[in-house]
Amino acid sequence: MTREAPPLALLLDVDGPIASPVTRTVSAGIITSLIALVAEGIPVVFNTGRSDTFIAEQVMGPMINAGLPARSVVHAICEKGATWFSFTANGPGTVHLDRGLAMPEAFGEDIRTLVAARYAELMFFDGTKRAMVSVEQQVTVDNADYLAQQDRFDAEVLELLARHDLGAVRLDHRAPAASGRVDYRVDPTIISTDIESVRLGKDLGASRAVELLAAQGIVPEAWRTMGDSRTDYAMADWLHHQDHRVKHVDVRPDDGVPPKPYPVLTSVDLGLDRDVIHDDAGAAFLKAWLDAVTS
Ligand SMILES: [Mg+2]
Repeated sequence: MTREAPPLALLLDVDGPIASPVTRTVSAGIITSLIALVAEGIPVVFNTGRSDTFIAEQVMGPMINAGLPARSVVHAICEKGATWFSFTANGPGTVHLDRGLAMPEAFGEDIRTLVAARYAELMFFDGTKRAMVSVEQQVTVDNADYLAQQDRFDAEVLELLARHDLGAVRLDHRAPAASGRVDYRVDPTIISTDIESVRLGKDLGASRAVELLAAQGIVPEAWRTMGDSRTDYAMADWLHHQDHRVKHVDVRPDDGVPPKPYPVLTSVDLGLDRDVIHDDAGAAFLKAWLDAVTS
């Protein structure tokens, strides 16, 4: 196999830098930039907590419709590394699932029942997840109303985990199984609660990204990672730890930028105002990288 060494590879969180956290869709400008980067031979890999279905609908579909170049391959690592697939102009390939990382099915069904019985006005059960159990805010309700009930919901989730003897951690709270094991995590985000294996994470996604490119004979000279959460830094942490060159972009740095052994960029580094955040910042960075590789 011929070895290719593109100057950059992109590893992108989706919700926030690519998809608007408000509409949860991807702007036409971002789709155009992504396609142009792919056409320049820049590997684009998505690394998301979302399901493969969400990525197929919100990212793959628009990219194919807008003219993804023939023979280009785009990778999507979904559910924080538990599932992944690749797509071309012809559509998606096989969706892979690491079964050892999936929540027990009976537990998922109990959560689905709980949401339907008591939380349906505010939340919905994401039926497209294959490994994680995710319950998300309805787009039609106010985020404040959702957040006001999320703690109560999460407490019920912890009770159900205990009933299934599934040891779990939620923030600082640890509730081991009878065996003493803590195999699961309850992760509250601003628009959802995810219940998942503790082995899932953006670092697992980063390792899969490197493997997927290596299988194509692609070893990029450097990586750019981009996200809107503290947990997204795990992509760059992992790459840096494995001796890859990496810079991380934080598109929502309100919590402050933590000290890291690699460069961390925000919209200010592009000469933009610090209130340029989310997918507006994501769009600006994609343009900047495109300009850099085409200049
Ligand atoms: Mg995000």
